Amino acid sequence: MLTGIAEAEEFREYIARWVDERFIPVAEEIDVAGEFPRELAKELGELGYIGTMYPESAGGSGLDNPNLCFAILNEELARGSVGFAAWICMQGSTATHTIYEWGNDHLRKNYFEPALKGDKICAFAITEPNAGSDAASLRTKAVKVDGGWVINGSKVFTSNGTVSDFITVVASTDLSLGAKALELFIVDKEFEGFSVSRKLDKMSVRSSDTAALSFDEMFVPDNHMLSSETGNGFRNAYRSLTVDRIFTAALAVGNARAAYDAARQYAQEREQFGQPIGRFQAIEHRLVDMYANVETAAMHTYHAAKLADQGEDITIEAALAKLVASEKGREVCHDAVTIYGGWGLMNEYPVQRYLRDSYFPMVGGGTPEIMRKIIARKAAR
Ligand SMILES: Cc1cc2nc3c(=O)[nH]c(=O)nc-3n(C[C@H](O)[C@H](O)[C@H](O)COP(=O)(O)OP(=O)(O)OC[C@H]3O[C@@H](n4cnc5c(N)ncnc54)[C@H](O)[C@@H]3O)c2cc1C
Repeated sequence: MLTGIAEAEEFREYIARWVDERFIPVAEEIDVAGEFPRELAKELGELGYIGTMYPESAGGSGLDNPNLCFAILNEELARGSVGFAAWICMQGSTATHTIYEWGNDHLRKNYFEPALKGDKICAFAITEPNAGSDAASLRTKAVKVDGGWVINGSKVFTSNGTVSDFITVVASTDLSLGAKALELFIVDKEFEGFSVSRKLDKMSVRSSDTAALSFDEMFVPDNHMLSSETGNGFRNAYRSLTVDRIFTAALAVGNARAAYDAARQYAQEREQFGQPIGRFQAIEHRLVDMYANVETAAMHTYHAAKLADQGEDITIEAALAKLVASEKGREVCHDAVTIYGGWGLMNEYPVQRYLRDSYFPMVGGGTPEIMRKIIARKAAR
C-alpha cells in the first residue's frame, strides 16, 4: 500500500475517506442501475480531483507527482466500483490530455476547463467495429472542405459515449496511408451528423457508460482539429493511450484490494467444522496468495507511475503494469468468489461484481495479447 512519497500518501488519505463515506454505500445500487452517476462526477470535479494530472496554470491540482496521485485516485475509486472509476480514468486522462497537449485556446476554454470542473463529460473514440487491437486500420474518414472537415464513419465501445458533451475522435484523412494519415478531432455532441447509435449493455463495469457512435456527413470546424495536418495524430493518440494503461492497471489494483479485503473478513466470520474457515491452512494460503498478487500488481503500477512522473519513456512499464495488474487482479477476484463458497455466486455479496469488473482492465486500452506484443520488444528479442 505504501508508496514512500508523502504527497501521494496524503492524497490517498483524502480520497479514501470520500470513497468510504460517499461512494461505497451507493456502489452496488449504481451497478444494478447500470447508469452513470453524473452527480458524483460533478462532486469530484468540485473537489478538484478531475484535474489531478494537470498543473495549476491549466486549472489542475499542481501536484509534484501527478501520475502517481492519479493512479492512486483510480485505485481508490475502483475499491468502490471499477465502473465509476473507469469514468475518471477517461475524463481526467485520455480525453482531456489530448486537448491539454495539442488543443488551441478555444478548445481549452470551452472543453478542457469545463471538463476539469465536471461540468462537461468527455470521451475518446478510436475503436471501430472492424478496428480494435489493430486500431490504425480504422475506416472513419475526414475530408477537407472549406473551413473544416466532413467526417463519416462509426465507433464502438466508446466509454462515456451516451453521456459525453464532447469526444476526441480519431479519423483518417487518407485511408490508403494507414496510421500516417490519422488525426484527432474534438467533436461536440451538438454537431449536426453526430449521433449515438446505441447504448451497449454489458456484464462488466455496468455503471460505466459504453456506446456505439455514428458520424454522418458531420462538419467539424478547423479549430476543432487537434494535431497538425502532417499526420502525427496517431502518435499523439498512442501517447495518450500509453500513459492511460497505468491508470487502467490502477483500476485492477483497487478492485483486487476490495476483493481481498472482503474475502479476508468473510474467512474470519464464516465458521465450518467448529472454527472460522480462515483457520484452515488451505484458506490461509489462498489469502496469502491473494495478498501477494495485490501487492505485486500495486508495485508494478506505482513503479510505472513514478517513471512517468520522472519523464521517462514508459511504453514497456505501462504495458507490464497493465498486464500484471489485470491478470493478477482477476485471479484475486476468482479466489475471493471461491472463499465465499455458495454465497460467492449470490448478488447480495459484492464479490461477484468484483469478478465481473475484473475483466474490464484486461480489455480496456488493449488486451493481454497486445500488452505481451509490446513487452516482447524488450523481454523476448
Ligand atoms: C467496456 C469497454 C470500454 C472500452 N472503452 C473504449 C473507449 O473509451 N474508447 C475506445 O476507443 N475503445 C474502447 N474500448 C475498446 C477496447 O480498447 C478494445 O475492445 C480492445 O482494444 C480490443 O479490441 P476488440 O474488442 O476489437 O478485440 P479484437 O482486436 O478483435 O481481438 C479479439 C481477440 O484477438 C486477439 N488478438 C488481436 N490481435 C492480436 C495479435 N496481433 N496477436 C495476438 N492476439 C491478437 C485479442 O487479444 C483478443 O483476444 C473499450 C472496450 C470495452 C470492452
